[in-house]
Amino acid sequence: MNSSRSEELFREARKIIPGGVNSPVRAFRSVGGTPLFIAQGAGSRIFDVDGNEFIDYVCSWGPLLLGHRHPDIVAALENAIDMGTSFGAPTEQETELAEAIRRAVPSVEMVRLVNSGTEATMSAIRLARGYTGRDLTIKFEGCYHGHVDSLLVKAGSGMATLGIADTRGVPAAFCNTTIALPYNDAQAVEDAFRAYPDKIAAVIVEPVAGNMGCVPPLPGYLEALRDLTEKNGALLIFDEVMTGFRVAFGGAQERFGIRPDLTTMGKVIGGGLPVGAYGGREDIMSLIAPAGPIYQAGTLSGNPLAVAAGLAMLRHLEAHPEVYDQLEASAAKLCAWVPPGVTVNRVGSMFTFFFTEVPVTDWESAKRADTERFGRFFRAMLEQGIYIAPSQFEAAFVSAAHTEEDIEKTIAAAREAFTA
Ligand SMILES: *Cc1c(COP(=O)(O)O)cnc(C)c1O
Repeated sequence: MNSSRSEELFREARKIIPGGVNSPVRAFRSVGGTPLFIAQGAGSRIFDVDGNEFIDYVCSWGPLLLGHRHPDIVAALENAIDMGTSFGAPTEQETELAEAIRRAVPSVEMVRLVNSGTEATMSAIRLARGYTGRDLTIKFEGCYHGHVDSLLVKAGSGMATLGIADTRGVPAAFCNTTIALPYNDAQAVEDAFRAYPDKIAAVIVEPVAGNMGCVPPLPGYLEALRDLTEKNGALLIFDEVMTGFRVAFGGAQERFGIRPDLTTMGKVIGGGLPVGAYGGREDIMSLIAPAGPIYQAGTLSGNPLAVAAGLAMLRHLEAHPEVYDQLEASAAKLCAWVPPGVTVNRVGSMFTFFFTEVPVTDWESAKRADTERFGRFFRAMLEQGIYIAPSQFEAAFVSAAHTEEDIEKTIAAAREAFTA
């Protein structure tokens, strides 16, 4: 595979952009080599600047549920751009998007749009603290909720991949507001509530973890979190930035039948443009300024282009519920073939091949994966035109644009990669 142009561009980028990338997960640090510079996408495919073509399972790290340049989204954007790119004043479409979100996710009685998943979780935590009058939050090891100061403690995603264990730059006082516990361990949560009575504002959780690789909740786990938060006067925040509109139209809360107090969203909701959202119970959301005293704002929040793309995405999904059956079938087929020495975790169209024989249920077990072997697998797949995330600790995503032929090609490539 020729990647000389990517190498050249990466050399230039590194001189002016830290590490040559605008988000750490994009660097191929843990797998070796140069990140590919992408020129174009179409459906299930991406094309790099050297003219190589790949079947894409990164899908912009989740947002592209319908693949690259879906005609509905492109048309909505073209229409929106003719009207103007930003007003800093309300538009009709923002309410339409909010209503579309509420139809999909009934626990979201009111919603505020922001520009990223990070902003959504940051704002939800502030709101939970303001509502409860408490400071502490529980999060889980290996879960990632964006680069919010207090939520970087024992975080997944790029921090897990790069082995960044501490949180330099985050004041100790902020870290001390976070209680990090093992995922899938309800007893640990119960113990924490006992140790800090009336001090814990919220439990924030990825209802299906995706940022230590895909780790589903064990049966009863989410129910226990719902129960414990309610009993102890704390809020349950589902961080559905990855799972929202991905594992079901109504997200993980629909799939597992749990009603959280607050939900954070991002990724799919923007249809490939920068959108985040947080929402939930009306009595809580009503505390946000200007309706209430808890401040949160944004110059470009509810941006017309981003809202148009998000609305086109949600409308398409609402009109085509069969998309989810197709996603489920495609991903199931991809994961049906389990090579020896590998554990496959999958929920809907998000999945991870962990290079370990032990079941992966939390960060401790995820960490046992053989990252060297993953690196060899990653490179062998790339050589065969299959683009997966350059880290063992990330989920892969199937989109509705992936054809049966794509899936078969990918399985053939994976067989080849495993024997090599
Ligand atoms: C990606 C992600 C975030 C952060 O979203 P950004 O848009 O990258 O800020 C937060 N939570 C979860 C679960 C995510 O997967």
